Amino acid sequence: MQYRNAQAIIDLDAVKQNILTLKKQLPKQTKILAVVKADGYGHGAVAVAKKALASGAAGLCVAILEEAVSLREAGIKAPILVMGYTDPSYVGIAERLDIQLTAFQCEWLEEAKRHLEHSVSLHIKLDTGMGRLGLRDVDDVRLFLEALNLSCFKVTGAFTHFAKADTADTAYYVKQDRRFRELIEPIKHIYKDTIMYHTGNSAASMQFPTDMYDAVRFGIGLYGLYPSPHLKEHPPFTLVPALSITTQLVHVKRLNKGEKLSYGLTYETKETEWIGTIPIGYGDGIQRRMQDFEVLIGGKRQPIVGRVCMDQCMVKLDKAYPVGEKVTFVGKDHREVITLEEVAEHLNTINYEVSCLLTPRLPRHYL
Ligand code: PLP
Repeated sequence: MQYRNAQAIIDLDAVKQNILTLKKQLPKQTKILAVVKADGYGHGAVAVAKKALASGAAGLCVAILEEAVSLREAGIKAPILVMGYTDPSYVGIAERLDIQLTAFQCEWLEEAKRHLEHSVSLHIKLDTGMGRLGLRDVDDVRLFLEALNLSCFKVTGAFTHFAKADTADTAYYVKQDRRFRELIEPIKHIYKDTIMYHTGNSAASMQFPTDMYDAVRFGIGLYGLYPSPHLKEHPPFTLVPALSITTQLVHVKRLNKGEKLSYGLTYETKETEWIGTIPIGYGDGIQRRMQDFEVLIGGKRQPIVGRVCMDQCMVKLDKAYPVGEKVTFVGKDHREVITLEEVAEHLNTINYEVSCLLTPRLPRHYL
């Protein structure tokens, strides 16, 4: 039950639009896998996954086994790939729920086979320059393929991840792509085109849609957010943001010049000022560093003043507004918009982190 008026609103139609827009750019045979890890980048994994699949996504990607299990528990039957490391003692769970795992270590295979009844589906991870997970040399790929030659492992894919596909300088992307082609050669020799080869995240699929092999792993763009400031400024196509965050004024008062407010008394009124209180704070994922940023009230930008508290914060108003007046943290109010990218810039971070840090206490509403 929701009693408070503070929520993240997720427009699922935007998710659909973003899939359809990307689909138009991709060659017909290139599938879209919707990345819904970290609870759908804070948007809600199940709702986003269902909408993405209904809009043409061929499967889902998550980071950890728990996330895949909860999608299965929600009744989702589409292919799901766990892109991160899974402890080999849990492969039986993946087998039972038909979840695809990522593999790249011979010892892992050795241990995994002891926990399987029949077989589990694997994607081979190749490290072409991200330096995170995966096989880095052709010889290691060959050894891994030998170790894989067991009926309990069904290879369904091979993939890599780009470290720098979101900038104007695409040299490193090109280098990684070339390395991918080299590393998949021995894999292709065995599996031919019976498995799925995939490299692209949102940035690569936006910048190089026609080079995307069999599938793209579409994450941030699915939510209508840009992978980088460069792509926000030079978008190959327009994305529709799915998330807005709204609340209301719960208290409005007039303070005299020279009065101080919130923890630490960091703000002092410079004149007689109208101050509004909003029932949302860092306990909801509205970070303390949002101090001195802005919200929208009455279609106008109004500054957050004083320290952001766990559950509340204060705003300097341009005039007296009634209690109950709508406040927009992220999203549109009349003609004004505050984007998640703008918030990220203020916080000196990236949009990915801002939406991921929204806490479960902030209710998610779906349109
Ligand atoms: N593939 C892998 C392996 C990832 O870790 C991620 C996200 O970090 C993605 C794809 C999706 O990336 P993006 O959200 O930039 O589209």
